[in-house]
Amino acid sequence: MNENIPAEVIAEVEDLRRRINRANYLYYVKDQPEISDAEYDRLMRRLLELEEKYPSLVTPDSPTQRVGAPPLDEFPVHEHIVPMLSLQNAFSEEELRAFDERCKRFLDMPLDSDIEYCCELKFDGLAVSLTYIDGVLVTGATRGDGYRGENVTENLRTIRTIPLNLHHTKDESKPDFKPIPRLVEVRGEVILRHDEFRRINEEREMSGEPTFANPRNAAAGSVRQLDSRVTARRRLTMYCYGIGACEGVEFETQYQILRTLDSWGFLVNPNIRKCQNIDEAVDFVREWQTKKEDLDYDIDGVVVKVNSIDLQNRLGYVARSPRWAVAYKYPAHQATTRVINIRVQVGRTGALTPVADLEPVEVGGVTVSRATLHNEDEIRRKDVRIGDTVVVQRAGDVIPEIVEVVKEKRTGQEKEFVMPSKCPVCGADVIRLPGEAIARCTGIACPAQLKERIVHFASREGMDIEHVGPALVDQLVEKGLVKDPADLYYLNVEDLASLERMGEKSARNVIDAIEKSKSAPLARLIYALGIRHVGERTAAALAERFGSIDALKNATEEELASVPDVGPVVAKSIATFFRQSETEEVLRKLKAAGIDPKSEKRRVSDVFADKTVVFTGGLSSMTREEAESIVFQLGGKPSSSVSRNTDLVVVGENPGSKLERARSLGVKVVTEDEFLAMLREAGVEV
Ligand SMILES: [Zn+2]
Repeated sequence: MNENIPAEVIAEVEDLRRRINRANYLYYVKDQPEISDAEYDRLMRRLLELEEKYPSLVTPDSPTQRVGAPPLDEFPVHEHIVPMLSLQNAFSEEELRAFDERCKRFLDMPLDSDIEYCCELKFDGLAVSLTYIDGVLVTGATRGDGYRGENVTENLRTIRTIPLNLHHTKDESKPDFKPIPRLVEVRGEVILRHDEFRRINEEREMSGEPTFANPRNAAAGSVRQLDSRVTARRRLTMYCYGIGACEGVEFETQYQILRTLDSWGFLVNPNIRKCQNIDEAVDFVREWQTKKEDLDYDIDGVVVKVNSIDLQNRLGYVARSPRWAVAYKYPAHQATTRVINIRVQVGRTGALTPVADLEPVEVGGVTVSRATLHNEDEIRRKDVRIGDTVVVQRAGDVIPEIVEVVKEKRTGQEKEFVMPSKCPVCGADVIRLPGEAIARCTGIACPAQLKERIVHFASREGMDIEHVGPALVDQLVEKGLVKDPADLYYLNVEDLASLERMGEKSARNVIDAIEKSKSAPLARLIYALGIRHVGERTAAALAERFGSIDALKNATEEELASVPDVGPVVAKSIATFFRQSETEEVLRKLKAAGIDPKSEKRRVSDVFADKTVVFTGGLSSMTREEAESIVFQLGGKPSSSVSRNTDLVVVGENPGSKLERARSLGVKVVTEDEFLAMLREAGVEV
């Protein structure tokens, strides 16, 4: 079928895929990028272009296939070759030691001898199985009932840490080198990191969709999405930890399996330990009891596996669980308490979020007196009423939530929550649009929204202004000292010293902190402005691309949408934000106060910076669009017509009248080769 495709095209496609796969692996799995984003985009665009021209070259393992496919009506069934069985649980150290003892008895080992264990974290996500044939990902499926799961291949393909084809990262001479098997089922867990979980929920809240209760639900919901393009927009991660069916490769230990998965390009969690005996395994479990709080993803326990595969085979299975492994579950951070009241908080976008005030209760070492209820529908679904006894739960650094109502404890005195029709802060009407889960305050001068906007502006992820938190912002807004975020920079010591509980010394500290924040980098300023849909990551991408607030403000929606992470909705939101007269005023005041950061991270040499570049004639090494995009990424301004303001005209084959015009205006003209040399000088690989 490839007879009409020139051999050099096939070779180029293969080379592009190899380079893109390597870049993906280094970026997502190893966290050590080797090429710039611009270069990555260029490789990807070239591959897309060739695949579009020669569709028969598109293979399922091409990196272009990570973007998601059109929606399905339902998922096909996938049968696991080796079933994915569940593990027996242990809830105490005694139960762990009892497991060790059971293994020894079964193996006829003396009870004072040692079994070596491999300890791993137990991720709180969705278990899936990936099947590779000849090193190519052919199917990905959920665990389902252990024997049959749902075929979610298209969705899993969008996860960047899952290799579409396997490659060796270890050289053959290494003692534990394992060739890639003809067929292998790789098992692991799809998880969502906390920052991404928060980003998704923030986005859903803004668009009026119900938020996810926890990262596990969000991960499961994303993997079981009938529209894989939705999955592609959520940055899921997969940690691999096991092998099901495997043809032609043998392993001696579980630890070796983990090392091998790593060497084949999978993401393996680094927190694994080979333990000489059950005592060391117990130590590992104790250690992670506290350390887990510092992880940026959720785990709910530790998995302890007999390390030797030989011993595993001798131990075999009982009922539907292996005898050679146990899942130690940390006690869930749950407690029972009473709902004193349900009130609403008004956020910076005007969203009204119901919050339950609780009788303070200790949950996993932290006193909890409040839990989010997300929205009205969530309250109805859980049927939470004022006065109810409820079970509250806290996981990681996620806000505590109400798991369920203890209905047996109802007395009949409980009161149902009613969403207020007026904003509790400014009195403006509250609306809830059809199809939206979120009710919003319509008040244009709502002080609650203003307060939240300023708190957000000063937050650690924003301008990072120490001492400027909710309590101080409350006073500043109520006294009329601050009417927008920029007003912070016009406060003086006397203004602050006039506030309650604020001496001259603290006032001076606040002023110093505000002064210090003036040097915040551009990405943080963009985030701090609180543009709808612009989270930290998007702000960083915008800062890198545009380099200054002015450039960002002047960007068209098309330019904005060409930034990684920014789709048409976000681009529109940014453009709309900068068109507001309030925005204009805030930016003017910020600039006057000396705040106008330039991006520190811009990987741009000054070869093209701020230069207007025009192309005429055909280029042989890339398309016009590619060339323009590269120039744009390097800080230049591609343009289609030659004028006195043009800095450079690049001439390809059969140039048009633009060349004559350039000559008559005395504009600098270069050939394609000279242009390529300039690109190399600017650090672009061409
Ligand atoms: Zn309001």
